[in-house]
Amino acid sequence: MPQIEDGYTRLANEILEHIMKASLNGTQFRIVMAVWRYTYGFQRKEHDLSLTFLAKAIDAGRGQVDREMTALIDRKIIIVVGTGGRGSRVIAFNKNHSEWTVPTMTTAGSTQGIISKEIRKEVIERDRYECRYCGSKEDLTLDHVFPKSLGGENTIQNLVTACRVCNSRKGAKTLEQSGLTLRSIG
Ligand SMILES: [Zn+2]
Repeated sequence: MPQIEDGYTRLANEILEHIMKASLNGTQFRIVMAVWRYTYGFQRKEHDLSLTFLAKAIDAGRGQVDREMTALIDRKIIIVVGTGGRGSRVIAFNKNHSEWTVPTMTTAGSTQGIISKEIRKEVIERDRYECRYCGSKEDLTLDHVFPKSLGGENTIQNLVTACRVCNSRKGAKTLEQSGLTLRSIG
């Protein structure tokens, strides 16, 4: 059983209250957790944390971590305070939440927020008004092929038309995990 005596991370409630409102995607939130764990969790404010280390810590791809880390740095939620021994960045969580910025347009349009009408229309037209999993023409919704909760983007490339049944079968799983396959169009 995990025990407080074996280690814990001290975090001000005010930080929790602000981070829960910061509209981070899943990967960004996991990166923030890893940064807390390896800085505050060791009673330090900053540390030399490489992308490879963070990717391993959150069990994600390095490219994905690189992309979401850039978004967190752009938003000033994570700050770079120097360069570490092996050339990796020394980073810190910026607890001054008044300095955090809202997601930029590219972030807002691609990884967060609602899917625009234009994108919705383009995806459904591309898929010829059929569920890409079963071919049904009824009760059509949009599904993120790479799940939104894992950082999947609201892009035409990552969205497919799915009937409500298939969409709920797929849930927040990847294609592999769901056992579903994408049919070719037309
Ligand atoms: Zn279907």
